[in-house]
Amino acid sequence: MSTLTTDPGTTLREGAFGNATGLVCRECGATQPLGPSYACQECFGPLEIGYAFPQVTREQIAAGPKNIWRYQPLLPVPTDITASPNMEPGFTRLLRADNLARELGIRRLWVKDDSGNPTHSFKDRVVAIALSAAREFGSTVFACPSTGNLANAVAAAGARAGIKTVVFIPHDLERPKVLTTAVYGGTLVAVKGNYDDVNRLASEIAGEEEGWAFVNVNVRPYYAEGSKTLGYEVAEQLGWRLPEQVVIPVASGSQLTKVDKGFRELVQLGLVDGSPYRIFGAQANGCAPVSAAYKQGHDVVRPVRPDTIAKSLAIGNPADGPYVLDVARRTGGAVEDVTDEEVRDGIQLLARTEGVFAETAGGVTVATLKKLVESGQLDPDAETVVFNTGDGLKTLDAVADRVGPAATIEPSYQAFTAADLV
Ligand SMILES: *Cc1c(COP(=O)(O)O)cnc(C)c1O
Ligand SMILES: [Zn+2]
Repeated sequence: MSTLTTDPGTTLREGAFGNATGLVCRECGATQPLGPSYACQECFGPLEIGYAFPQVTREQIAAGPKNIWRYQPLLPVPTDITASPNMEPGFTRLLRADNLARELGIRRLWVKDDSGNPTHSFKDRVVAIALSAAREFGSTVFACPSTGNLANAVAAAGARAGIKTVVFIPHDLERPKVLTTAVYGGTLVAVKGNYDDVNRLASEIAGEEEGWAFVNVNVRPYYAEGSKTLGYEVAEQLGWRLPEQVVIPVASGSQLTKVDKGFRELVQLGLVDGSPYRIFGAQANGCAPVSAAYKQGHDVVRPVRPDTIAKSLAIGNPADGPYVLDVARRTGGAVEDVTDEEVRDGIQLLARTEGVFAETAGGVTVATLKKLVESGQLDPDAETVVFNTGDGLKTLDAVADRVGPAATIEPSYQAFTAADLV
């Protein structure tokens, strides 16, 4: 393999990005060398990673570690990725959800439970790849604008890697997400504004500060590839086949589009049969710009001002919105949205039927699944996977006034029976 060069003339370590060959524009297809850039030099379109994949077998993958690094040949990371401290996320459980299926009238349903990651959300996957890229670029600061879960993942991964972190959050974030970020040390900055304001500030800083790796801004093409592993895992855990339907929460829309990319790569590599699948997107209607565009038949996503309890999904101007519309339409899926009350119901429904406590994003997804079945958009006879992407302990307020003890009693058998509780 030849030595790779980045735009500013930095020389990269040989094999620093595995089988990745360059950055490809998602709009015009122009290519440029691997580097810490995210916009096409020809048309300013967003860039993604291009690869020259070798032959990869199921056995080779199965012999790898029980985390996302088992898919190293399919990711922009070096073969020695496990040699440096990283978070080792992934290979979270895929639960057969028979109780929830029965309640919703679906024949075969699974929950992909990504709350089991190191900082309890799917964001550990994307951050692990971004950290590898930041290392290879020799970045001195590991940073992000975040709606909460990304802040957790960046602060934790940076602490473990021994790299300075600077994390920007909206000032009104849920308290648990603030504390579970701050505890890792690093610099946490609360910004008076919503996520879209925070994101704009981050882009400005990224343009000024040399050597900063903003995981979801200037190293976004690498970061985004982490979401493919959700698709790979679902297929592998189903015994190397694709599900017929998937329901995925949408914030920036990156996760949804990369699960689709992951499925297509598995087919291309002959690791699964190319059976048809439909991808559905889930939003909270207090921040549903992609769902609105889908329903109106638009290709353009008009930004909104978020107002929802599902703060981890509260991106009013989603970078991947138009690509989510493409995927939903191409695969025969849809994008739907639910009210905050339905989000709370969704959290309780999943907890009550399957013993899984989801954060608000999971509530959005489960409630959307229910709505899609009831409206006939989702086929109840087709095998379906619903994603829970975060842990309910981070958003306790969502259910705090809905659940609690059945009674408070004196410590005596008589008091217990008198209360007539069971
Ligand atoms: C960030 C996030 C998502 C969605 O992320 P995208 O920006 O659409 O890739 C989903 N669920 C949770 C819990 C998240 O934190
Ligand atoms: Zn372009």
